[in-house]
Amino acid sequence: MLKKITIFILFIFIFLTIIYSFFYASFNLGVEYLKPISDNFRPYTIKNFTLRRVFGLNQPGDAKSDYYSTKQFTKLKVEVYRSSHGDMFETSLELIKNGIDGVINKSEGISIKQMELENVPGKVSDDFIDNLSNKIPKYSNNSAVMKIYLLSTYEPHPTLTGLTAGAYGFVIFKNSIEESSESISIKNGLEKNTILHEVGHLLGAKHIEKDGCVMDKIVDVPGKERINLIPTTYCFYDLQAIKDANI
Ligand SMILES: [Zn+2]
Repeated sequence: MLKKITIFILFIFIFLTIIYSFFYASFNLGVEYLKPISDNFRPYTIKNFTLRRVFGLNQPGDAKSDYYSTKQFTKLKVEVYRSSHGDMFETSLELIKNGIDGVINKSEGISIKQMELENVPGKVSDDFIDNLSNKIPKYSNNSAVMKIYLLSTYEPHPTLTGLTAGAYGFVIFKNSIEESSESISIKNGLEKNTILHEVGHLLGAKHIEKDGCVMDKIVDVPGKERINLIPTTYCFYDLQAIKDANI
C-alpha cells in the first residue's frame, strides 16, 4: 500500500514538474510555437503576484496591475537609485509624488526612498541593466515597489534618455539628459517625459504613432531638432493606450 502511495506521489510530482516547465518555457524562452500559449495565459498569470514570481515573469507590463489600480496594493514605494552620474530633478520627484500625471492610482499615496548605487560605469551595457532588472523587488504592507535607476549613458545608443528594466523599474540616463541641452527647463522636461514614457510601458502601453504624445516612439531617441517639442503630460491617446492595457 505504502509503495502504491509513494508511486502515486512521485507520479503527481513529475506531472506538476512537466506542467510547470511547459508554462515556464512558454512565458520566458520566446519560442515561436509556444507564443500562443504565452499570449493566452500571460494576461491571467500576471494578475496574481505569487504566480508571476513562481513563473519568473519580468517583462515591462507584467506588473501593470500593481501600479495601475489599488485592488491589491494600496501604496506605492518608489525606490530611486542615485549614482555618481546625477540626482533626480526636483520637478521629477514632484511628478512621481503626485501620481505620475494621474496614471498611478494609490489610495494611501506614493512615497519615494532615495538610495545609492555604487560603481556605475560611464557607459552601461544591456548586461549591466539586465543584472539590475533581475532583482525583483520585495513588496511589504500592501506596498508595491517601483525602481528607478539613475545611470550614465546607454552604450548601444548614447542619445537614449530612458529604458525599461524588467517589469518593476526603469533607467534614466542622466548623462544623456545632461548633454541634450544647455537649458535647465529642457533638461527638466526631458527627464519628466522620460519618466512618463517608461511608466507608460510599465503600465503595459506600447508605442503609438501620434506627434506630441508621450508614448510616440520618437521620444526614445529625441534628437536635437525635436528637443523643443517634448511633451510633459500624457495626451488623450497615451491615456487611452494605458487604459486599454489595463482593462
Ligand atoms: Zn518606448
